[in-house]
Amino acid sequence: MKEIDYIIVGQGLAGSVLAYSLIQENQKVLVVDEEAESSSSRVAAGLCNPVVFKRLTKSWMIDEVLPLAKEFYQKQEALLNDQFYFDVPIYKLFVDEKEQSFWKQKSNEPHLFDWINHKVEYPFDKEKMMYPFGASKTLQSGFLKTANWLEKFKHYLIEKESYINMKFDYDKIKFSENAVVWNDYSAKKIIFCEGYQSIYNPYFDWLPFKLTKGEVLTVKFKNLKIDHAINKGVFVLPFEGEYKLGATYNWDQIDNKSTKEGETELIKRAKRFINDEIITVEHKAGVRPTVSDRRPLLGIHPEQYQLAVFNGMGTKGVMLAPYFAEKMVQFLLKNKKISPEANINRFLT
Ligand SMILES: Cc1cc2nc3c(=O)[nH]c(=O)nc-3n(C[C@H](O)[C@H](O)[C@H](O)COP(=O)(O)OP(=O)(O)OC[C@H]3O[C@@H](n4cnc5c(N)ncnc54)[C@H](O)[C@@H]3O)c2cc1C
Repeated sequence: MKEIDYIIVGQGLAGSVLAYSLIQENQKVLVVDEEAESSSSRVAAGLCNPVVFKRLTKSWMIDEVLPLAKEFYQKQEALLNDQFYFDVPIYKLFVDEKEQSFWKQKSNEPHLFDWINHKVEYPFDKEKMMYPFGASKTLQSGFLKTANWLEKFKHYLIEKESYINMKFDYDKIKFSENAVVWNDYSAKKIIFCEGYQSIYNPYFDWLPFKLTKGEVLTVKFKNLKIDHAINKGVFVLPFEGEYKLGATYNWDQIDNKSTKEGETELIKRAKRFINDEIITVEHKAGVRPTVSDRRPLLGIHPEQYQLAVFNGMGTKGVMLAPYFAEKMVQFLLKNKKISPEANINRFLT
């Protein structure tokens, strides 16, 4: 029997960020992952947008979560000797004068001063892009190459003998007074970071997920070149010489299959402002672990205290995971309380 501190099920953004946060506290972890090609984390564009464009408000907890996220990914870059996080402005293309003046008005409000620029610009080729009312950009936005980071981090775990590629089998869990045993491993706790597949977990299937399928394309343009990210109903993100174009939101069809309708919808929306041929290179779909109240899911099983969950990062895993992993670690190691909005206790009556 190998004695470790924590078994983590899932090596998506949630499981990986939590694993490293525990390793930094000298905890011995084992990460079990079945390596699904189309996990939400591997499909995600990885954008960190500090504002909600629809209402022009700050993203939830942005002042706390974004600095921590950047610091976390910078540490990963130093550890793994590669770049994963990139600063990039996200340009909002205005649909009319009203939207443009709303942006200008909002950009003068003190709480948005650090997050959106006030200037209206015309930074894109006016022949190949249609945006007669101009554009303006976010400040402090960026994106994480999620799949690249997860792959490199997996190899780091493998070198530390802290990784197993297999489907976690719930029937193999055995509980004792002070430990939980799974196969040949004895640990203090098993922490489930299974993303949307948490709905199949017999211990946590009561959590109120409201899952959202999303599809993303990798595309090329015939002539158009864009150096910044754009948002106008869809996002366009320059990515390794090509572009990510996404994403759809579907609450009814929950699977990882890319669909013709998804591709058509994305291209149709992009064509509203791109006056160039769009060529699909790759098409992926994933399921976001979104929750009914749009808040993360952290905590301990109400009856089996050796089982814990770290999930519910929703549409913003890149920004939220490092901050909440720190909170989870403080809870596990120092018994500090998890905030009521993130604690799964909020769903216990
Ligand atoms: C189309 C799309 C676009 C997105 N864009 C963005 C974006 O721009 N910015 C952003 O921040 N977020 C974005 N997201 C959301 C983001 O992907 C999620 O918030 C985040 O990746 C969730 O990570 P996770 O680790 O909780 O789940 P997942 O990524 O689903 O990871 C769960 C892991 O657990 C493994 N697993 C599950 N059950 C088991 C089991 N029983 N045994 C073994 N392994 C198991 C799975 O194989 C998987 O590797 C997007 C999502 C989608 C689908």
